[in-house]
Amino acid sequence: MTQTATTRLLIIGPPGAGKGTQAHRIAEGYAVPAISTGDIFRANIKGATELGKKVQAIIETGELVPDSLTNEIVADRLAQADAATGFLLDGYPRTVDQVAALDAMLEGESLDAVVLLEADTDEVVARLLNRAQLEGRADDTEEVIRHRQNVYAEQTAPLIDLFSKRGILVTVDGMGSVDEVAERIASGLNGLLSAKVVS
Ligand code: AMP
Repeated sequence: MTQTATTRLLIIGPPGAGKGTQAHRIAEGYAVPAISTGDIFRANIKGATELGKKVQAIIETGELVPDSLTNEIVADRLAQADAATGFLLDGYPRTVDQVAALDAMLEGESLDAVVLLEADTDEVVARLLNRAQLEGRADDTEEVIRHRQNVYAEQTAPLIDLFSKRGILVTVDGMGSVDEVAERIASGLNGLLSAKVVS
């Protein structure tokens, strides 16, 4: 019995569903790097790089960074040695065009599984407002937070159907403690990935 040598994963869900925390858990479990486009953008904003200057205003309004720019950054990151045996993408792809770009980057070696972290909009808005207060993120106003939810519903939620049709979607209830949610993800992924083992 042989298992595919790579593990290519994606975690998707509305802003505030807890993707980042779970992404690190999953990545550790499968010994692959967690790659978050949001983290890459934030690091560049903090470092005041050219890229950071380009994307700061866009991110502050809750809009998406243009696909062309985002795709380029992901292509560069996936070309690094540590991503050769797999990865966990967090926050990318976020649009139908980004899915097509990722498919092209992977050259037919498509994603093995997509974890959808479901969360109630009002609950996540409340969480994000609380986080904004605790971390002193004055820019994260309720308006921007709600706008990000709308952008997710309009541009990213349609991807769920697409991945479901590919038979690689694992839907998980994102409400509960970090450990509870991590346990649900682990068992969902285990079920899907072990079913893929070829003899
Ligand atoms: P996140 O931390 O994943 O919620 O990302 C923070 C912000 O970065 C988003 O609100 C977007 O403005 C931008 N961003 C992150 N990932 C992407 C992406 N795949 N495409 C476009 N913009 C993105």
